[in-house]
Amino acid sequence: MHYLWSRWPEIQKQIRSRKDLLFLLDYDGTLTLIAPTPRQARLSPQTKLVLRRLSRKPNVTLAVISGRALADLKRMVGLRNLGYAGNHGLELWWHNTRRTVKVPRALKKALSEVTRILNKVGREFDGVIMENKGLSLSLHYRLVKANGLTHLKREFWNHVMPFVRSGTIRVVKGKRVFEVRPNVPWTKGHAALWFMKKLASPSCLPIYIGDDQTDEDAFRALKSGITIRVGEHHRSGARYYVRRVREVFRFLEWLADEHARRDH
Ligand SMILES: [Mg+2]
Repeated sequence: MHYLWSRWPEIQKQIRSRKDLLFLLDYDGTLTLIAPTPRQARLSPQTKLVLRRLSRKPNVTLAVISGRALADLKRMVGLRNLGYAGNHGLELWWHNTRRTVKVPRALKKALSEVTRILNKVGREFDGVIMENKGLSLSLHYRLVKANGLTHLKREFWNHVMPFVRSGTIRVVKGKRVFEVRPNVPWTKGHAALWFMKKLASPSCLPIYIGDDQTDEDAFRALKSGITIRVGEHHRSGARYYVRRVREVFRFLEWLADEHARRDH
């Protein structure tokens, strides 16, 4: 991984050499700072503005890909003209068209069973936030006190492991969150490729920015693009990293200005 700005001249050159750009952006921890609760992770007015400016460029396509439920994500971002993928890509939206990836009934049943169990477990611990997103579930433990954490994690795995072993449920550990999903072969990487095929020209340059484990699928899927992880991580599949969310903003702003210059 290279620090984005240490390779800046070559990145600029790569961007300038391509006519069409496809931005694929994660939400939490990428466009916003990680907040104590999901509800508090609001988009700043400046970031919203730069996204709006970018989305209006004729040669730029923009999509936000998140683990949040689609409706929640659309509300948090609040912009038209964008593509959205919720539930780690299981729900896709573009220009009033909605597509939901098919989840087999047995896996849906397993998810509702595991949801029921984890709701019960979650209630036993102060600070657990359960986010039931229909097609997946997040158990946030950022606010759980240190002395309860080991117990919570043990309880979590005790209850979830049988589902994982049976192949119905998949768990990804994020930043102070367990992402619990039906085990379907469809990730943020698939969603990224779907947007590339549906919305952009085959010659477009994809630029993916994300900060967490679920974004790794997309980094791997977009080998030929510009992939950026927020936070250096020695095992990441991303080509570049930035240190903080503020730098994502700077990068997007440069791109918005760059294309403004090009339009004139
Ligand atoms: Mg994130």
